Amino acid sequence: MPRLQPPRGTHDLIGEEQRRHRFVIETAREIAGRYGFEEWATPIFENTEVFARTLGETSDVVTKEMYTFPDRGGESLTLRPEGTAGVCRALVSNGLTQTLPQRVFYAGPMFRYERPQKGRFRQFHQIGVELFGPSPLTFPDGRLPSGVIADAEIIACGHDMLHHLGIGADVTLEINTLGDTVSREAHRAALVAYLRDFVSDLSDESRVRLEKNPLRILDSKDPRDQEIVAHAPKITAHLSGEAQKFYDGVKKYLDVFGVPFKENPRIVRGLDYYSHTAFEFVTTRLGAQGTVMAGGRYEGLVREMGGPQVSGVGFAAGIERLAMLLAQAPAATAPAMVIAMGAGEVEEAGLKLLQALRRAGVAAEFSYHPSLKRGLERADKIGALAAVLIGEDEVKNNTVIVRDLARREQNAYRTIEDVILAVKKTFAEHA
Ligand code: ATP
Ligand code: MG
Repeated sequence: MPRLQPPRGTHDLIGEEQRRHRFVIETAREIAGRYGFEEWATPIFENTEVFARTLGETSDVVTKEMYTFPDRGGESLTLRPEGTAGVCRALVSNGLTQTLPQRVFYAGPMFRYERPQKGRFRQFHQIGVELFGPSPLTFPDGRLPSGVIADAEIIACGHDMLHHLGIGADVTLEINTLGDTVSREAHRAALVAYLRDFVSDLSDESRVRLEKNPLRILDSKDPRDQEIVAHAPKITAHLSGEAQKFYDGVKKYLDVFGVPFKENPRIVRGLDYYSHTAFEFVTTRLGAQGTVMAGGRYEGLVREMGGPQVSGVGFAAGIERLAMLLAQAPAATAPAMVIAMGAGEVEEAGLKLLQALRRAGVAAEFSYHPSLKRGLERADKIGALAAVLIGEDEVKNNTVIVRDLARREQNAYRTIEDVILAVKKTFAEHA
């Protein structure tokens, strides 16, 4: 006998949960479309190096969380832990770096070997966008880099998605800059010098990071680390003139786009490719798993895939976390219930009606039982708005009865067209 539970950290999406999930994706897709993003679907597994190289060998995802396995041909494959690397790989594989900018939307499952808890799963789902092309380079005439507008636009897109999901009031946008390479090196040196004085007080994990990836310590969830980090040197004190201008530009354009934000110098991305803008939409409603959407600008990721130097900016959002924030689940489609109260001719007439309704765009279900009572019970159970009744008398008189189940009113109709109209009218009145 197989074990009856799904694998640890995975979950079935059924009923209300699936409707919440789908609503998040459809809303995000709709808004992404308004921003000019085209949907891509890349494979759910990639050659391991696609992630191992691009996510940084010291990142949590690569060192602890990847589902990596050899396939039957001995190839090392990895279930994608996130979407950006695969999209960058696809940009290069398909020769699309020649036609920039590229604006990409994606949605789908991601896999990370993590300790499951509220809002944290081993198979979870993300929606995300990536915008390739606009760079952080200042124009020769001194104009602000196009990347400034791109970053603000990406953030505005995320903001609009959250608002259209009806959870705009539950989230706060926090932004930071990671500066350019020059700024980051200066900051890193200052940070390591500061943290060395606290080596014995740092958590074990942070002590390891001090050598490998000190920036990640700023992101530590350990309360003692957080206390030490609170007074650590901030990137903002080490920004180069260019990086400062870029950051000021992004903030200005966020105002232009009408997107309110808070600055949070603690936001980091532990990977070398990330630079300049970093942002998160956070909520206080999900306990420790408070980040619902996270993103930022990256340089060098496309080159790492064998492509040319192409700048990127994007974000990813956890669908499960967004789904949990929705005030209410979208309702299931309420169908019409076709009840044929008899066999033979009556049943056949019922089935013809059923298909006529469906082909006219009306959701309809057939009651597999010839009893009116059983049919109405089933109609009630699935929240049907209308029942379409046909029995021997109706077949004889060439009529069909449409009953408004909420109002408990019914009328007889002579043509299929009139039946369809009556059902549609009932649907419209209860929508
Ligand atoms: P966290 O700090 O929560 O581990 P992260 O930095 O690993 O997040 P990202 O890689 O930036 O997360 O992924 C973007 C978003 O995807 C997160 O903000 C979150 O909403 C969602 N997410 C990440 N990991 C999981 C997971 N294991 N289960 C559910 N959602 C997740
Ligand atoms: Mg994580």
